Amino acid sequence: MTSQQPPRIIRGLDELRAITRAWKRAGETIGVVPTMGALHDGHLSLAHAARQNCDQVIVTIFVNPKQFNNPEDLENYPRTEDDDARKLAPIGVDLIWVPDGEQMYPPDFATNVSVGGITDVMEGAHRPGHFDGVATVVAKLFLQTAADHAFFGEKDFQQLMIVTRMARDLDIDIEVVGCPTVREDTGLAMSSRNLLLSDRAMMKAATLYEVMTDTVAALAEGAEFSALQDAAKARLRAADFTEIEYFEIRARDDFAPLTTPTRPARLFAAAWMAGVRLIDNIDVPVKG
Ligand code: AMP
Repeated sequence: MTSQQPPRIIRGLDELRAITRAWKRAGETIGVVPTMGALHDGHLSLAHAARQNCDQVIVTIFVNPKQFNNPEDLENYPRTEDDDARKLAPIGVDLIWVPDGEQMYPPDFATNVSVGGITDVMEGAHRPGHFDGVATVVAKLFLQTAADHAFFGEKDFQQLMIVTRMARDLDIDIEVVGCPTVREDTGLAMSSRNLLLSDRAMMKAATLYEVMTDTVAALAEGAEFSALQDAAKARLRAADFTEIEYFEIRARDDFAPLTTPTRPARLFAAAWMAGVRLIDNIDVPVKG
């Protein structure tokens, strides 16, 4: 069922619970798409996947202060709620859950959800506290919405694995579904933070995906990863990336570092362009 009316926005937990209880009593399945808003086609692909697989679809919009380790990043994060609601209308999303900060984290809020191990590397190493913030808010959103299925992007692959592990470890009865990364025509992974880039910086930022795909292709032809890694970093610097935080191959299940992809793996990268931190990851075919 699709409608052109923007979905209803719910801001109170009691109201949300009354609605989801009625859905459950009617035997309907609920899909949730957690977001921080500033929606683009990547987010919308998740909402479409939820629409196809669930009776009722909730998109959540909450810019979660706990997952920002940099106050400036939190302040600059784009907020476009009216546009977001309009974009969700043609998909037939049933409601938008927009909790306010006080409700999510009252002054006496004292609980932290922390996943071990797979949070130690990459984003976890470079953004201290980030994944505790993610795991805590996602656990709350899962419980608040009582969803049966949750849709996350492979764009944030480490996050996808962490929320899957968190739900499993805490026995939250939800299936976490990973969806492919949606890209601009240039190959640049869509991201709300791209709104902070000039057109010129956005063109240059596309070099990241180009370098990543070239690296994986050269690896498949037998090149050594350490040489490819050096060449990739040099190309990124030449394209005006100011800092390359990581550019590495890791196993897709436990994120062990690999130089030869002898088991399912991905190439992960994080780099800064024009003051904006960009991340991406792509599949690396298994060798041998
Ligand atoms: P965010 O609003 O950035 O927290 O992202 C909300 C959800 O959208 C997360 O599950 C992201 O992985 C997903 N997402 C963000 N960008 C993309 C993209 N380009 N393609 C697919 N999913 C995405």
